[in-house]
Amino acid sequence: MKTTFDTIVIGLGGLGAAALYWLSRELGADLLGIEQFEIGHTQGSSQDHSRIIRLAQHQDIYTDLARPAYAAWYEVEAESDVKLVHITGGLVIEEFGVRDTSRVGTRDLNGYRNAMTRRGIPFEALSAAEVNRRWPQFALKDNQAAVYQPDSGFVDAGKGVLTHLALARARGATLLDRTPVRAVAPRGQGSVDVETAQGVFHARAVVMATGIWTNRMLARAGVQLPLYGTQEQVTYFATPHLKECSPRHFPVWMFHGAHSFYGFPVYGELATKMG
Ligand SMILES: Cc1cc2nc3c(=O)[nH]c(=O)nc-3n(C[C@H](O)[C@H](O)[C@H](O)COP(=O)(O)OP(=O)(O)OC[C@H]3O[C@@H](n4cnc5c(N)ncnc54)[C@H](O)[C@@H]3O)c2cc1C
Repeated sequence: MKTTFDTIVIGLGGLGAAALYWLSRELGADLLGIEQFEIGHTQGSSQDHSRIIRLAQHQDIYTDLARPAYAAWYEVEAESDVKLVHITGGLVIEEFGVRDTSRVGTRDLNGYRNAMTRRGIPFEALSAAEVNRRWPQFALKDNQAAVYQPDSGFVDAGKGVLTHLALARARGATLLDRTPVRAVAPRGQGSVDVETAQGVFHARAVVMATGIWTNRMLARAGVQLPLYGTQEQVTYFATPHLKECSPRHFPVWMFHGAHSFYGFPVYGELATKMG
């Protein structure tokens, strides 16, 4: 097997798979992707059926990233003919009078409205009664209100990983799974050694997309980032109301109250999802 590449991408979760695909458009076969587990595994951050995508942000830095993110996904859809983005519209709901205001910052309806206004993103400000009238699946209370943004939706996260990797392979990239990288050793300018159980690979550049494992990768370089992991729980709720909860009839939503939650229509599993 070839051991020298222009670039090696370490970690093939959502970010690594996308990096591999976009690099493959320039580098083709001069590209290697390495994953410690099997492709599409469920031990990182990128598994499962859905991730919210939205222009409805409360900070400009995220709004400015969101538009190109939509464009990038649509390009991947066009090249693969795999549907990845599902537009459902999205609600951001706030419950007033119950939040720790010292920790809210711009993450309230005002913050969302201001950020969308600054960037010319259309939205509707809705009372609880209006939300309940338009989507009777919701039962908002009088001390709650919402903004609705019609471009919100979700991306099929698991399929997104596999689609990026398939397209990268089609352009000649090599994929190695079940291959933990043990160390990354810079060898002077323009040369990096990547050590694995299957041997040492060499590259001009390395992309580390190793998520919560990143500090292990950086140890040899003497760099540590302030990272800590959390285990996130999502729950699927079975419903007899499949049509009312389908992506055509049920928006993605985020709820900011004493606690924050978010949710999806029925997709992937025959159940709605909440996290
Ligand atoms: C429950 C949940 C809900 C979320 N909801 C949303 C949402 O609605 N919208 C949104 O935009 N984002 C959401 N996110 C965030 C988003 O999913 C993550 O930001 C994204 O998946 C991170 O991808 P990643 O590639 O950085 O990490 P990961 O998917 O963890 O990938 C890192 C990869 O590196 C590999 N790796 C690590 N070390 C090595 C090594 N030594 N050798 C080889 N391979 C290695 C790992 O095995 C793994 O495959 C959510 C995340 C979670 C967990």
